[in-house]
Amino acid sequence: RFEGITMAPPDPILGVSEAFKADTNELKLNLGVGAYRTEELQPYVLNVVKKAENLMLERGDNKEYLPIEGLAAFNKATAELLFGAGHPVIKEQKVATIQGLSGTGSLRLAAALIERYFPGAKVLISAPTWGNHKNIFNDAKVPWSEYRYYDPKTIGLDFNGMIQDIKEAPEGSFILLHGCAHNPTGIDPTPEQWVKIADVIQEKNHIPFFDVAYQGFASGSLDEDAASVRLFAERGMEFFVAQSYSKNLGLYAERIGAINVVCSSADAAIRVKSQLKRIARPMYSNPPVHGARIVANVVGDATMFGEWKAEMEMMAGRIKTVRQKLYDSLVSKDKSGKDWSFILKQIGMFSFTGLNKAQSDNMTNKWHVYMTKDGRISLAGLSMAKCEYLADAIIDSYHN
Ligand code: PMP
Repeated sequence: RFEGITMAPPDPILGVSEAFKADTNELKLNLGVGAYRTEELQPYVLNVVKKAENLMLERGDNKEYLPIEGLAAFNKATAELLFGAGHPVIKEQKVATIQGLSGTGSLRLAAALIERYFPGAKVLISAPTWGNHKNIFNDAKVPWSEYRYYDPKTIGLDFNGMIQDIKEAPEGSFILLHGCAHNPTGIDPTPEQWVKIADVIQEKNHIPFFDVAYQGFASGSLDEDAASVRLFAERGMEFFVAQSYSKNLGLYAERIGAINVVCSSADAAIRVKSQLKRIARPMYSNPPVHGARIVANVVGDATMFGEWKAEMEMMAGRIKTVRQKLYDSLVSKDKSGKDWSFILKQIGMFSFTGLNKAQSDNMTNKWHVYMTKDGRISLAGLSMAKCEYLADAIIDSYHN
């Protein structure tokens, strides 16, 4: 009976927000979850989202069920944003796209497809990676192992280790790659390194599996942040891409994203899509419409599309500014001679500080700075006004 059910541990990321709420100290700072905040540390709804929502109200859009695969206009827009509208994989209809429950739900659909059609195949994930990846593959009963990624000595990419581990994986493995702004490290391969990664994946007949949660949010440019994915598409490879609009359109709670499967023929894409629908139907029947309409409206209107890009640049810009200010504060306050330049080399909404678990605990217990225990801080939750305080906390935690 239910009496026999044991207590589950708190989620390592979302649990941080719960602990933050319970803290009554006024200096407290929540750098745990990756959600964009304004300089006043308030949540932000994009103006272009409000505009699209007003339009939807005026039009009197109804709440009928969507088809299992989601809103057609959204699916078209999302694949075009990813690959570029005129891309051969789109023109030749080689991409099976279905709307998913944001990035997480889309990853979960792909995991279910792997479990059904590639029994025994392993997924290789980076060490470290976003914590939920392991949960997703565990729950889908897909075996996984790690490839080397982060080098603590350089606080940079262990490129040789990464290449070697991908080479040594059993042929036909799935290689999970962060399209841009690697979470949690903020360290991405260079364009030249991406070419080498594609080479070894092709050599070993592996299947790339991209997780794109930050398109446009890392650099401020949708195209630039999709360059890694497009490199693989150009080579005619078959692969997965999960997408999320949580960050770049600030639609966190709307749960809007997609899974794209690039196939080698239009015919295969039709069959793959039919199987994705078959997986989705008993899980959640069909996806929610609201976020899908927002995306389709914004992308489908030249003015709103332009406004979105400007707001995305503004958000990415604010994060870059606090990153610089945090770096400057650390350099001016720290007398130990430590090289803090890794902070400026990282990209996206996170910084991987290199703080270990005990040091991260000091950040929270002594300084009321809430962060994940792997040393990751979300710069999207930081204001210019709090940079000096955060620098004091980091220096104290490093040296104690
Ligand atoms: N992948 C990565 C790497 C992420 O960082 C996130 C968001 N934290 C996601 C996927 C998916 O998030 P969501 O389900 O909210 O789209």
